[in-house]
Amino acid sequence: MEKENRKSNLRRLLEYAGPLRFLTYASWILSAVSALMALAPFVYIWMILRDIINVAPHFEQAENIVPYGWAALMWAIGSILVYIAALLCSHKAAFRVATNIRTILMHYITKLPMGFVSSIGSGKLRKIVNESSEETETYLAHRLPDNAGGIATPVGLLCMLMYFDWRLGLLSIAPAVLAYGIMYFFMTGRSLRKTMEEYQQALDTMSNEAVEYVRGIPVVKTFGQTVFSFKRFKCAIDRYQQWVIGYTRSLHSPMVAFTTIINSVFAILVAAALFVGTSRERMDGQFLSNLLYYIIITPAMTVMLMRVMYMSQDKIIVESALKRIDSVLDVEPLEEPLETIQPRDNSVELRGVSFRYKDADTDALNDISMTIKAGEHIALVGPSGSGKTTLACLIARFWDTTKGSVNIGGTDVRNIRKDDLMQQVSFVFQDSRLLKGSILDNVRLGRPNATDDEVRRALSEAQCDDIIAKLPEGINTILGSEGTYLSGGEQQRITIARVMLQNTPIVILDEATAYADPDNETRVQAAFNTLSIGKTVIMIAHRLSAVTKADCIYVLKSGRICEKGSHAELTSSAGLYANMWREYNQSINWKLGGTK
Ligand code: ADP
Repeated sequence: MEKENRKSNLRRLLEYAGPLRFLTYASWILSAVSALMALAPFVYIWMILRDIINVAPHFEQAENIVPYGWAALMWAIGSILVYIAALLCSHKAAFRVATNIRTILMHYITKLPMGFVSSIGSGKLRKIVNESSEETETYLAHRLPDNAGGIATPVGLLCMLMYFDWRLGLLSIAPAVLAYGIMYFFMTGRSLRKTMEEYQQALDTMSNEAVEYVRGIPVVKTFGQTVFSFKRFKCAIDRYQQWVIGYTRSLHSPMVAFTTIINSVFAILVAAALFVGTSRERMDGQFLSNLLYYIIITPAMTVMLMRVMYMSQDKIIVESALKRIDSVLDVEPLEEPLETIQPRDNSVELRGVSFRYKDADTDALNDISMTIKAGEHIALVGPSGSGKTTLACLIARFWDTTKGSVNIGGTDVRNIRKDDLMQQVSFVFQDSRLLKGSILDNVRLGRPNATDDEVRRALSEAQCDDIIAKLPEGINTILGSEGTYLSGGEQQRITIARVMLQNTPIVILDEATAYADPDNETRVQAAFNTLSIGKTVIMIAHRLSAVTKADCIYVLKSGRICEKGSHAELTSSAGLYANMWREYNQSINWKLGGTK
C-alpha cells in the first residue's frame, strides 16, 4: 500500500511535467553515469600507488604517474560535467512541474467557492501554492537524480571492491550493511513515517494553541496574567518539548552506532592488514596497494549512505506537499452556467434553504425561507453562531446550498455567471480586506476603469476625508508601509468606498462588532446609510441600535428563523428579540452609568 502510494506520487509529479517528463528520466541516467565516472579517479590513484610500491625504492622508474594523474583529473571533470547536465535536465523538468502545479492550483482556486477561500485564509492558501510546489521542485530537481547516483555508486563500488581483493571487499561492505540496517530500523523506514506524523501533530497543536494565545493577549494584558494562565498552550509546549527530547534521546544510540560504524571501515581494514601481515609474515606490494585503495575509496560509501538517509525524509516531505495540494484540489468547484439568466429585479428570495459545512455534524442553516423585495433593507440578528454570516454568504454564493435555492430577481444564483453575480451583489466584510497597495488602488478594485475623481468622490461619500487628510501622500499612500496602519473602523470605511464604486444593486453589510471610538462608529454608520440609498440591503447586525429602522428584522437561532417583523412589532411581542432589546438597553445604561 505504502509502496503503491509512493509510486503514484512520483507518477503524479511526472504527469505535471508533461512532455518534459523524459528530461527527468534523462537526469537519472546522467546522474548514475556521473556517479560511476566519479569512481574512475580512485582506480587511477590506486594504479599510481601500485606503480610506486612496485618500483620502490627506485621511484624514478614510475613513469606512468603523470598520465594516470591526468586521466584521474579528466574523469573527475567529466563526472562533474555529466552531473551538471543531469541537474540541468532535472531542473528544467522540476521547474515546469512547480509552475504547472502553481498554475493549476491558481486556476482551480478561482473556481472554488469564495467561502472556502475565505475560511481557509489567504495566508494558508498562499503557503499551499508556493511552498508545496517548491518542495516538489527540490525533490525532483535534486533528490531523485541524487538517488539514481546513490544506487549506481554502491553497485559500481561492489564490482570494484570484489575485483581487487574480495576479502578486503567483504570487510569494507560488511560495516556498510550493518550501518544501513541500523539506519533503516531505527532512523528511517516505517518507524520514521509514524514518528514524523506524531511530530507534525505535536507541532500543529502547538501552532493552534499559539494562535489562540495571541488572540487572547488583550485578555492576558488586561487582567495582568501570564502565559501560564493559558494552560492548554503551556501543555502543548510541554508536550512538544517532551516529545522532541524523547525522540532525540531515542536516536542517540543508533546515531552514535551508525556514525561510528561507517567511519571506522578503514580501522577494520588496518586491523585486517595487520592480521594478514603477521600471518603471511610479510605483506606483498600487491596486497599493500589494494589495502590503500580500499582505505581511499571507503569514504565514498559514507557519502552514499548519508544520501540514502535523507532520501526517505524527502519522500515524506513530498508526500505531505502533495497531500496539501490535494486538500485544495479535492474541494468541489462551483459549477458555472454557460449563460446567465438575467434577474428581472433586485429582490432576493430563499426557498427552503439548508446548509451544512463540510465535516460538520449539524446544519448551520435549517429550512430557511425569506423574501426580500427590491430596495428593501433587512437585518439579520441573533446570538453568535446562529447562522447570520452563513446566510449572507449563501446569498452572494460563497457556498452552494445543501438543500433549497437562493434566487435573485427570480433567477437561481446557480444560473448566474460569477462575473454577472459580482455586478449584482457586493459584500462589506467585518474584517476589511485591504491589499498592500495604495488607497487609490484598493478602492479602484471596485471598478477598475474608474477615474481618480470618481475614486475621490466615493471616498468622500464613505466618510474617508479625515483619513485621507492625515495620510502623508493622500490617496496614493501605500497601506501598511511606514507606519500607515488604519484602525478597524477606518479600514471598513475604505472598503465601503470600494463597494460604493462597485455600485451593485444588492449590498450585504457585515457590521464590525467593536469600534475604536464613537466618532469612528458614527462615521461608519453614516457611510453605511449613504451606501444603502436605493439598494436592497442585507445587514448582519451585532448592535441592535443599527437595525431599528430596518424594513424587516429576521431573528435567527440555531440556524432557524425564530422571529421576523419590524422593530416595533418585535419589541411588542415577548420573544427573543424583545429580550435581546431589553438586555441591550440595560447594557447601554450600565455603560453610561459606569462612565459617570
Ligand atoms: P453567526 O454569523 O451568527 O455568528 P455563523 O454563520 O458564522 O454564525 O455560524 C453558524 C454555524 O456554522 C456555527 O455553528 C459555526 O460554528 C459554523 N461555521 C461557521 N463557519 C464555518 C466554517 N467555515 N466551517 C465549519 N463551520 C462553520
